Parts: sequence; C-alpha cells; structure tokens
Amino acid sequence: MEKKFDVIIVGGGLSGLATAHFLGKRNPALKIVIVEKEDRPGGAIRTFRCDGFQAEWGPHGFLNNTAESLEILNDLGLDREMQTAPLGDFRRFICFNGKLEPLPQNPKMLLATPLLTLPGKLRLLADLWKKPRPEDQSIGAWAAYRFGPGVLPMVDVAVTGTFAGDLDRLSIDAVMPGVRQLEKEQGSVLRGVIKKKKNGVAGSKGLPAMVNFPAGMERLTDRLAGEEKNLLLSTTVNRLERDGADWLVSTGHDLLRAPALVMALPVNASLRLLEKLDKPPVVEAPGARIANVVMGFGKEAKVPRGFGYLAPEREGRFTLGAMFSSHMFPDRCPAGHILLEALVGGRRHPERLELSDREIVSRVYEDTSRLMVLPEPPVFTEVLRSSGAIPQLEMDHPALLEWRRAIEKKLSGLHICGFGWDGIGMNDVIKSAARTSEAILAEKPAESGQAPVKPVYF
Ligand SMILES: Cc1cc2nc3c(=O)[nH]c(=O)nc-3n(C[C@H](O)[C@H](O)[C@H](O)COP(=O)(O)OP(=O)(O)OC[C@H]3O[C@@H](n4cnc5c(N)ncnc54)[C@H](O)[C@@H]3O)c2cc1C
Repeated sequence: MEKKFDVIIVGGGLSGLATAHFLGKRNPALKIVIVEKEDRPGGAIRTFRCDGFQAEWGPHGFLNNTAESLEILNDLGLDREMQTAPLGDFRRFICFNGKLEPLPQNPKMLLATPLLTLPGKLRLLADLWKKPRPEDQSIGAWAAYRFGPGVLPMVDVAVTGTFAGDLDRLSIDAVMPGVRQLEKEQGSVLRGVIKKKKNGVAGSKGLPAMVNFPAGMERLTDRLAGEEKNLLLSTTVNRLERDGADWLVSTGHDLLRAPALVMALPVNASLRLLEKLDKPPVVEAPGARIANVVMGFGKEAKVPRGFGYLAPEREGRFTLGAMFSSHMFPDRCPAGHILLEALVGGRRHPERLELSDREIVSRVYEDTSRLMVLPEPPVFTEVLRSSGAIPQLEMDHPALLEWRRAIEKKLSGLHICGFGWDGIGMNDVIKSAARTSEAILAEKPAESGQAPVKPVYF
C-alpha cells in the first residue's frame, strides 16, 4: 500500500531521531515517518542492566560542549535528569611502560609529564616552523611530522579512545579538517590556536563534562522516539526509487512516498542502498568492532579515581583500555562495588572478538589486574558485543564526502547524514542532524560549513 509523507527518514538511531526532533520543532505541520529495521529505536545506543549492574553496549556518554545536543536535552527536559562527570575531576590515564600515568590536560601538566622526554617536549615547538604539507596524511604521520615521534603514544590513545582506530590509517583531513585548515592558514597549529585564543574564539573555557543518565544512555533515544507518531519498527528499507520529484521507499509491506528522503544510517548501510542510484568511489568503508567487557568487583578493588585508562599499541596489551564507570556514575553497581568496563578489539585486533566470552574475560582480567588491585574472581562479568562497527574515517573518506556532495546535488530531496559521515561521536551526528533538518526546510542540500577546530578529549 502506498503512503504519502513530507519526509521519510531511514534509520531510527540517534541521527534519524534527532533529525525528526529538529524538523518537528521547527515545523510541527510536517508529516514525518521514521523507518527502523530493528524492533527497538536507538541503533548503537543501548543500555545493559543485570543484578544491579548497569553498562552500555555502545556510547558511554557525550560531552556537554555542543549547542545542538544541549538544545535537545533542554527540549526534552533531560538537562534536569542528566548526570555529569567533569573531565577536570575525572582524569584520564595512559598505560605507559606498564604503569598508569595521568594524561596531561593543560600546558603545566605537559611540562611536568614523564610521557615525553625533555627533547620530546622541546620538539613540540618545531610545529611553529614546520611547513604544512598540502597532501592528506595518516594522523600518525601528520602528528610525528609536526610535533615529533614522542607524541605518538598520546595520539595513539586519542584515536583508540574515540575511533577504536589505527593512527596509521585514519586520515587527518577527514578527522580534523578544522585543525588542518588552521595549520594551512597560519603555517602552524600552535600559532593558529594562540591567535584564536587572543581573538577570543578558541572555544569554551575550561574542560567540559561527560553526560549520561541514571537510566543509561538509551534514555535519550527512548525519549526522542517517544515524540514520534510515525516510527515504523521491525521494518527494513530495501529499495529506493525516484518518481518525478518524489522518492519511493519500499519496505516489503509498504511503499512510502515523499519529496524529501533522509538516509540516517551508518556509512556502509547508506552505501548499500544508494549504490544502485549512483556508484560510490568506495564499495565498503572500513569499520572497527569492539566488545565491552563488564566486570564488577567487591570493595577490596583499588581503582584510581578517574575516568579510565587507554593503552597505546606499543604497550602490547590485550585490552584497549577501561572505564572506571562507577567512579564517574555511581549507582551503576550495587553499593560497595566497583564497575569497570574494558574495551577489546578495535581496528587493529578484530581477531580478538573471535574468542569465547570466557577467554576474553580471562585475558582482560589478567591484563587489567597488572595495572590495578582487582580481586579474583570478579563478582560479575558480561561481554557486550556491539552489533555495528564504528566507521573509520580513513584515506578514502574525503572522496566519499565529495561523492555525497555530488549525489545530494544531483538527486533533489536526498539528504545523507548518520554514523561516520560527519564524524562518529554523538555530538557529531546530532550536529549533522540539525544541519540536515535546516537543509530540508530550505529545500536544498546541507552546507558543510566552516570546519570547527575541535579540542580532542578521549
Ligand atoms: C561500541 C560503540 C561505542 C561508542 N561510544 C561512543 C561514546 O562513548 N561517545 C560518543 O559520543 N559516541 C560513541 N559512539 C558513537 C555513537 O553511538 C554514534 O554516534 C550514534 O549512535 C550513531 O547514531 P546513528 O543513528 O547515526 O547510527 P546507528 O545508531 O547505527 O543507527 C542507525 C539505525 O539504522 C537502522 N538501519 C540500518 N539499515 C536500515 C535499513 N535498511 N532500513 C531501516 N533501518 C535501518 C539500524 O537498525 C539502526 O537502528 C559509539 C559507537 C559504538 C558502536
């Protein structure tokens, strides 16, 4: 049966739900339908609860430094419910030569840190006269050229903590376009940042805070989904067609028609549906899968106060890192207990996800208990294997973005946002959803706009 709408949104994860929210807020008369293949909304965002322990399959939080995300929290009244863990109070650690060392969070800490030798610290300043290289490079090659090889363990944990990625494969142009622009305009990243600070445009003062909710991350997507009148669950979009100025979307049961179509899907899911309309430069973009190993311990456990730690590849550890979740968000475990959530796999070690849950837990315990006092055995364990991969913005990504720009221009009413297009974090996809909603209301493709210079927190 054919049904007519103003906007069809494919994907009921955060991107699709946020796009619908912004559209409905700006024009309540719009008839919007969201089509979601699973029997629940939220996509990668999913909270786990068992025996008094609460953990996350997907994101563990987002930073409160993005206007569009704060707008959603305010609109839903979730700003009164959210819990925050300020980064200034919850320091991050790096596993360095087999020990946990605090990551420097300001220039004073950078001067004092044992993570860099004195020549390594002086080498940072070479950025001031290193001529920008015009071509795209891996993040690792770019950072070593500008700031010296001493920074690579810190860069490694930054990309592990955000992308579960590989610093030798991620593209600097795709991941940090704002920083690259600054480097090219000012001839140096440091000079550019100092100039921005002087002009008062260097972003927010102080460190942001990580946001989650007492009921877990899925509280956000559940609330967004609750606003939608037309959310079709357990419905898979399997074909897209043009019919004059309209889009026709086939789901197996129904044919949906609308002048505007939003693809709010992870990059590869979008490519699979769109490739029949226009061949993309890449058949499949790379992804990183991770498992979250949830471990509960009794009060004898001694875990440093902080957010958690990350281990660079050169340390040769099994675990990518672990979050000290119950320090940041108490009530995630029964009283008198400690909750750790450890990450395994990532872009460099997909083979580790082939191991049984038992083997993974045992290897993670063996690894983490060499860094902290963790009584054996844990009182609670669970391995949460996320169903989707984290898209990797590697060297082909700029070409994919070019292709997106061209296809949106060619096929009127088509809007592509979602996991991995304009970044991978919740704030990135919410920003992209807001831009998409503006573009739909203006009946033109979204503007990519000025790339922001984003500080890196991980
Ligand atoms: C393990 C993991 C940890 C993460 N940690 C963090 C973190 O700590 N902080 C942070 O900010 N971000 C984190 N992220 C990223 C964050 O989860 C994403 O930015 C966000 O959830 C992406 O939302 P989305 O709607 O774009 O994609 P998704 O959540 O993937 O949603 C897409 C939806 O589309 C549906 N779909 C797919 N194909 C079809 C089809 N053909 N028809 C209909 N429906 C379809 C899917 O079922 C899914 O529900 C993490 C992601 C993962 C996987």
